[in-house]
Amino acid sequence: MLNIGIIGYGGMGSYHHRELIKQKDGVQVTGVYDIKSERMEVAKEAGLKPYKSLEELLSDDTIDAVLVATPNDVHKELSIQAMTSGKHVVCEKPAMMSTQELDDVIKVSNETGQVFMVHQNRRWDNDFLIIQDMYQKKPIGELFQIESRVHGANGIPGDWRHLEKHGGGMLLDWGVHLLDQLLFMVDSPVKEVSADLSYILGDEVDDGFIADITFENGVKALVEVGTTNFVKLPRWYVKGLEGTAVIDDWDLSGKVVKQTGVIDHHNLVPIKAGQGLTKTMSPPSEDATTTLPIVEVEADYDGFYQNFYDVVVNNATPIVKNEEVRDVLALIERIFEVAKI
Ligand code: NAD
Repeated sequence: MLNIGIIGYGGMGSYHHRELIKQKDGVQVTGVYDIKSERMEVAKEAGLKPYKSLEELLSDDTIDAVLVATPNDVHKELSIQAMTSGKHVVCEKPAMMSTQELDDVIKVSNETGQVFMVHQNRRWDNDFLIIQDMYQKKPIGELFQIESRVHGANGIPGDWRHLEKHGGGMLLDWGVHLLDQLLFMVDSPVKEVSADLSYILGDEVDDGFIADITFENGVKALVEVGTTNFVKLPRWYVKGLEGTAVIDDWDLSGKVVKQTGVIDHHNLVPIKAGQGLTKTMSPPSEDATTTLPIVEVEADYDGFYQNFYDVVVNNATPIVKNEEVRDVLALIERIFEVAKI
């Protein structure tokens, strides 16, 4: 059994990971350390051992691994301290604030032999898995345009996410998820990036961004995070050589329209559009297309901690590899850089 101590018992540490770990054989949460006394009270009420200090947790021989679920700016120091104290680490995303920080952490992981693994949980989101499946199996042909968006209207939530020194802002928050999904799916190096960050709300950090990414294999992607969007655009909009798919939201509403026959360009029926007529924008003939529902693909998200256990105990290959995490951080750095110009 791997005993896990949680460092940072806030939203993610207390609810998400606690619940996730509970369902797993071989892994259990036994104790907690948080700098806020009220969070320690919550941990105590949940039957977990509250540690008075980080040092107390890290010097407890019954603890095998820690989960780092604090604000982003302290992921590095906590991960390094844990590994040099002989503990394996699961770290929340964004793993670090820069590739340099991650390189320092990986160096310590290599030197100490302790596992460092990042919780990129949105690789198991159903909406993403459906698009990834389309990318791989090509039911609407080769995907050549991928648009991935998340839109909210509530601004930046919480406290530390507004501040640069804590690693706040939406590129490091939601951006890291969407970019991780994109790089995990598209098996080609990034060729070009252009981007624009949004500061509409007057925070010192970005409240959203739009990034255009072109891959060496020709695939073009648009990744957008918005927190000032009272009307959402679809979560995914993808075009393939033989059709188009849209997934509106996390409830997986949406559709796939697939070309099944030849479009008769000479006999298109014009439609009235505004003050004019158009053949170009008239809907494709029903004989030439079929509309299909979005079909869920199987996901094994519970596999994250199972894999962590196997990596620690059986030297298995990590589901989330540190090189992949580094590629995402490098892309984030590139987006910050090009957005400045
Ligand atoms: P939060 O503010 O709810 O919780 C953070 C907790 O860390 C707080 O209780 C705070 O007191 C504690 N803390 C701060 N500094 C500490 C330190 N030095 N030592 C010990 N405890 C400390 O934040 P959150 O929303 O839970 O986010 C935490 C981490 O989880 C962030 O890195 C965030 O990006 C990540 N996160 C990931 C997902 C996901 O889907 N994977 C979702 C939300 C948050």
